[in-house]
Amino acid sequence: MNIQSLIRPHLRDLIPYSSARDEYQGQASVYLDANENPYPSLVNRYPDPLQKQLKEKIGALKKVSADQIFLGNGSDEAIDLLIRAFCEPKEECIVITPPTYGMYEVSAKIQNVTVKTVPLKPGFHLDEEAILRENNSENKILFICSPNNPSGNLMDQKTIERLLEEWAGLVVIDEAYIDFADSISWTTKLDQFPRLAVLQTFSKAWGMAGIRLGMAFGNQSVVDIMNKIKPPYNINTLTENEASKALDHPDYRREAVEKILAERKILGRELGNTPLVTQIYPSDANFLLVKLPNARQVYEYLVGSGIIVRDRSKVLLCEDCLRITVGTPEENREFIQVLRKF
Ligand SMILES: *Cc1c(COP(=O)(O)O)cnc(C)c1O
Repeated sequence: MNIQSLIRPHLRDLIPYSSARDEYQGQASVYLDANENPYPSLVNRYPDPLQKQLKEKIGALKKVSADQIFLGNGSDEAIDLLIRAFCEPKEECIVITPPTYGMYEVSAKIQNVTVKTVPLKPGFHLDEEAILRENNSENKILFICSPNNPSGNLMDQKTIERLLEEWAGLVVIDEAYIDFADSISWTTKLDQFPRLAVLQTFSKAWGMAGIRLGMAFGNQSVVDIMNKIKPPYNINTLTENEASKALDHPDYRREAVEKILAERKILGRELGNTPLVTQIYPSDANFLLVKLPNARQVYEYLVGSGIIVRDRSKVLLCEDCLRITVGTPEENREFIQVLRKF
């Protein structure tokens, strides 16, 4: 299946909105085309609808070409647009592998796209045979989260490779936590797999959740359809400037990731020395999933002490589990001290 034939038919012929910044793309000295206020401020002009400069910087860092990059208002916008581009409401479906990130299901449901679930196997591994039983023309997008939220583990590379080869629709690999993992990104395989899209974000390792900037990497047809249906100016100038500054200093991010990884080790050890905790799942991300009896009560007790973790105890395969983000050394120490007094 080529990408064009996977796109919803009415979108293939859609003529997208053409903004002032689409219609004139050069440099000029007088701009009277967009009804902007002429009195200069940092943000009196509309931003570049396609963020070309920012994509050049991201492309250089990630070693992909700028036209293989889509930028969204968080990766959540990319998830929403992918579903809208490829899935016909009421007729077509996405496939997810719970326990996993919640937005795939929510975005699909908002658009009345059916969600099919193929649960992970114990140990949070992909059930490759069960996924391939869902490989049909109705099931347009397979979402794989690796490292997975909330379990924290990377998904097996050989399994993903087989799914990329055999899945007839689009395979979206959400790499929100890839910078914490000892693994290369699937962006390195874009040329090999035409129906692959990879999601990354500035919200986690980059420490910039507040600017709302997500990245999707895919072949030209995937990026083109996303650009065609996105809101014209989805990335604002302030976000673009902050991201651009951060990209000029990649060492800040590397150092933060190193600190978090060192702390993840310490936090894991301390949790291991806490009798209450019965299991700590291996993590390739900036959080730990831990099992402990009466997780909900522990959660509420922690809240009462001003410490908020994520209660995942009602989630499939996560019975009695809490998800704990790795904080600063001081935050983690306080958490452990309070937890031990439960
Ligand atoms: C945090 C997270 C995101 C990030 O979403 P943004 O909209 O970019 O903040 C995406 N996917 C997963 C699995 C996440 O955990």
